[in-house]
Amino acid sequence: MQFLFSLITSLILASFAYYKKAMTTNALILAFILSVIITYYGGLECFLILCAVFLGTVIAGMIKSEKRKEKSKDIHEKGHEKNIGSIIANVLPGALVLLFNIPYMKVIYAAVMAEAIADSLASDIGILSDKPPINILTLKKSTHGLSGNISILGMGAALVGSSFIALIHFIFNYNIKYFLIIAICGFLGNMLDSFLGALFQVKYECPKCHIITEKKEHCKTKTVVKKGMEIFNNDVVNILSNVLSGIICYLILIIV
Ligand SMILES: [Zn+2]
Repeated sequence: MQFLFSLITSLILASFAYYKKAMTTNALILAFILSVIITYYGGLECFLILCAVFLGTVIAGMIKSEKRKEKSKDIHEKGHEKNIGSIIANVLPGALVLLFNIPYMKVIYAAVMAEAIADSLASDIGILSDKPPINILTLKKSTHGLSGNISILGMGAALVGSSFIALIHFIFNYNIKYFLIIAICGFLGNMLDSFLGALFQVKYECPKCHIITEKKEHCKTKTVVKKGMEIFNNDVVNILSNVLSGIICYLILIIV
């Protein structure tokens, strides 16, 4: 019965994702499988959290601002569709927490998913900010759309997103302590994402126009590594911060 429920709910979510052209085919297949796992082991509560993260990401991405397109067109490698890497980075850790029945699994799952929504809202909404963002390490003004940036607007959006996930957990469990832990871990995880992004994420320079970008090609020329390590692309930074927010959440849970 629970399996049938997982299949039907996941099929509805996947159909919506397909209709919205939100992800590539490979990403959609993996997302469907992970959704079945999440709903089978975590029930309605965990499924709703997955839906909230998905909807939050879609809605943030839909804010069709010319400003955003203008600001990030030189910076980002990826288009609008989520690829398999971003599903692995944002949904797989949460699904594994439930699959392996880790202690406090639903709280940790919620914290990990709160980080995922905080990250996508911080980047999609933060980029709309009129003020230039600052680099989390140097605290100096930076180019819009680069990893490692923070802005007040982005941080506010991250906090709203992670609190919303914490609220869904609260509605099912009435536990204010867990509410706070989830909201804080999601937010902290996102800050950690910016920190790792600033520290390690690969950034390239265009040899022609000298713009700093995350693209491998600019002005029809191969860009060169300016700083960071090539292995640390956006997905690797995302999965690291996702897993770390789960670990931080677990540590807080066993301490307090
Ligand atoms: Zn260029």
